[in-house]
Amino acid sequence: MFFNTDERIARWKEKYLSSLDALEQKEQSWKAIEEALYKSMGRLALVPYGNDSSVDQRLDTLRHALRRHKEHKRLSSLIEGVHEALEKVPKRPARKTTAEEPATPVSPPASTTPTKAKAKPTTLPAQLLIDLLDALELPEDQLSEIVKWKKRLDSAEAQKWFEPALPAITKLVAKMRHHFHQERKELENFLRAINERLADMDQFIALGDESRADSEHARERLQKSVQNEVGEIQREAQKATDLEQLRHSLQQRVGVIQEHLETFISEEQEQQQRLERGQQKLKNRLDKLEREGDSLREKLRSQHNQLLRDPLTKVYNRTAYDERIVLEYARWQRYGQPLSLMFWDIDHFKSVNDTFGHPAGDKVLTAFAKKLQQACRKTDFVARYGGEEFLILLPGTEQQEALKVAEKLRTQVEKIRFTFQGKPLKLTASCGITELSQGDDADSALERADKALYKAKDDGRNQCQIAGEIPS
Ligand code: GH3
Ligand code: MG
Ligand code: MG
Repeated sequence: MFFNTDERIARWKEKYLSSLDALEQKEQSWKAIEEALYKSMGRLALVPYGNDSSVDQRLDTLRHALRRHKEHKRLSSLIEGVHEALEKVPKRPARKTTAEEPATPVSPPASTTPTKAKAKPTTLPAQLLIDLLDALELPEDQLSEIVKWKKRLDSAEAQKWFEPALPAITKLVAKMRHHFHQERKELENFLRAINERLADMDQFIALGDESRADSEHARERLQKSVQNEVGEIQREAQKATDLEQLRHSLQQRVGVIQEHLETFISEEQEQQQRLERGQQKLKNRLDKLEREGDSLREKLRSQHNQLLRDPLTKVYNRTAYDERIVLEYARWQRYGQPLSLMFWDIDHFKSVNDTFGHPAGDKVLTAFAKKLQQACRKTDFVARYGGEEFLILLPGTEQQEALKVAEKLRTQVEKIRFTFQGKPLKLTASCGITELSQGDDADSALERADKALYKAKDDGRNQCQIAGEIPS
């Protein structure tokens, strides 16, 4: 029993130690992002996009990193980079604002060159903050704060919300770090409890050894005294002349032996009871530890699940995609089964928000995600990658087959009848498709699907396209 428990504890310990490492890393990364944001705060708010090409370039890289990768270390160094570039830009006087009293809108720069067809240059810094908000992995109770800021930064008044948004987002990042810190502390306490129980177990084993040694001594003592008494009996029997006297002294000796035996038995019983008590105590403690372990495991599991779902559409989120693609990529490499990727983007979605309001936009997103999920097989994987962009992984499906699925889905989306404020809304979406191929990594395939999506947009939207160049 103890061996098994010991082994089980060792396994838990290993598991929790690696969770602890992961949490510590996350905490550190978010700390770096928080510091970088804090440093950049004043200047980032004052320089509109399109004024300085080195700033713009860094803002573009940062935005791209936020949308495509979630390596926290890279993010903080990118924020640092933006900060450095901003240092070189001449500073304009700051306007004093609070989160509830936004500054007067800063008029957008007159002419700017978009880097991509889809980019909206004047709102890029605001979009960057929206992407940063998307990258936060905060628990459910903080989501309303995220949604609030996303809406503000996404509104026609984005420019005036930009400056108060920075400290608010930095605060959220700090919460994020605090959250990981708390989790880490909880795990540390649990590990400490495991260590204490292990020490209890050592003590109990030592107690067992000790009592075995005590028993051994007692047995030796008993043996000696019995031998002694028996020797005496023999001697007395030899020299006895009187039968009555012999009977008397024999009775005495037997009495002594009996006493020794009784002492021995009661000592043994006491020893046994001590051991049983120790064993019971240890068992209770281990049971308690096991219950604590179970509830902690359950908590970690549900927190993990929560972190993997998009709260609005309930499909997986980008964090989940980042985890899943690693798995699917490894399977694709090992088994050589085809793996296709679809990159969906709702057409002119901004105008849905602008015409019917954000809540209507949210309904459209939910309905669209539901359609995607319904059209997919159980083994496919649907994730909201950010905003109105969705990714689908289709293991065991070639790209031509994926195109058929996508086309079917596209026409179904066209047919959804939305009515908002009594007016009909016609929804369409575009899709870029690719299949993983020799020489690909997960990122290169995603980039390719992304390019195909842009092409579908450029060619008039409401269409699905398979990516062009595939690595040879
Ligand atoms: P395109 O056809 O080129 O894709 O144009 P678009 O308007 O769909 O693309 P754009 O990237 O300009 O706008 C995406 C919009 O998605 C910006 C923002 O208003 C909206 N959005 C992002 N996240 C949410 C959300 O959670 N809810 C709502 N309602 N809108 C969101
Ligand atoms: Mg769109
Ligand atoms: Mg988009």
